Amino acid sequence: MKNPKLTAWIRPVGALAFVILLAFGWRYPYLAYCMFLNVVVGLYGAIRHGGRHGCGNFCPRGSFYSFLPDTGRKLPAGLLARRMSIVVMIVLLAGLVFWLRPNSIRSWGMVFYIMIVVTTVVGLVGWLVFNRYFWCSVCPMGKIYKVIRPGRSGIRVADSCVKCGLCAKACPFGFFPPGKARDGVFRDPDCMLCRRCAERCPKKALSVERATPPAGTKS
Ligand code: SF4
Ligand code: SF4
Repeated sequence: MKNPKLTAWIRPVGALAFVILLAFGWRYPYLAYCMFLNVVVGLYGAIRHGGRHGCGNFCPRGSFYSFLPDTGRKLPAGLLARRMSIVVMIVLLAGLVFWLRPNSIRSWGMVFYIMIVVTTVVGLVGWLVFNRYFWCSVCPMGKIYKVIRPGRSGIRVADSCVKCGLCAKACPFGFFPPGKARDGVFRDPDCMLCRRCAERCPKKALSVERATPPAGTKS
C-alpha cells in the first residue's frame, strides 16, 4: 500500500462490507463468493510485496476485528507458528459439503457463508478471551500467504527511534521492530505491513521498506 490515506478508508469500508456480508449472506449466499476476491487480493499482495501484505492492508475480516474494543490481553505465545487452522478449515469445509450436499451456485455460496460465520464466531470468542487480533494470528489464509516471498518488504527503523516501545503496543502481534531490525529493517513472515506501528510512533521512525520490483516491471 503506497498511500497511508488509502489504508485509512479501506479499513472502515472493508469492515462495513464484512458486516453487510454477515447480515445478508444468509439471504443472498452469492455474497459469500466475495471471499475469493479477498484471496486473489491476498495472493497479489504476497507476490508483489511479500507475505501477509494483503492481511494488513485489504482484508475486510481483519479490518472488522481491528474496530473491536481492545481487551488489553496478549495473544498466546506460539500461536503465529501453529498451522493447525489450515487442517481445521479443510475439515470444516468437508463437513459442510457432506452435510449440505451443495449442487448449485447458490448452495455452494451457502457453504462458504456458513464457513465465514463459523470462523467469525471463533474470532469473536478469541477476541473476548485474548484480543481482537486473535483471528489474524490463526487465519489459515494468513499462514499460506506468509510462506510466499516472506520478508520481501519490511519495516525500516530510523535513527530517531528512542526505544519507547509504543510501536510494540500498537502492533497486532506485539512485534517490536527496533529490537529485531537487521541493517535497519525489521522483517518477519508474520508482519502484515499494516503500518500500525508506524502510525503510533511519536518520532516517525518507522516506514515500510518497499520491495524491489522484479526487473522489467514498474514499482
Ligand atoms: S514507537 Fe517509534 S520511537 Fe518508540 S520504540 Fe517504536 S520506533 Fe522507536
Ligand atoms: S510490525 Fe508494524 S507493520 Fe508489522 S504487523 Fe506489527 S504493526 Fe503491522
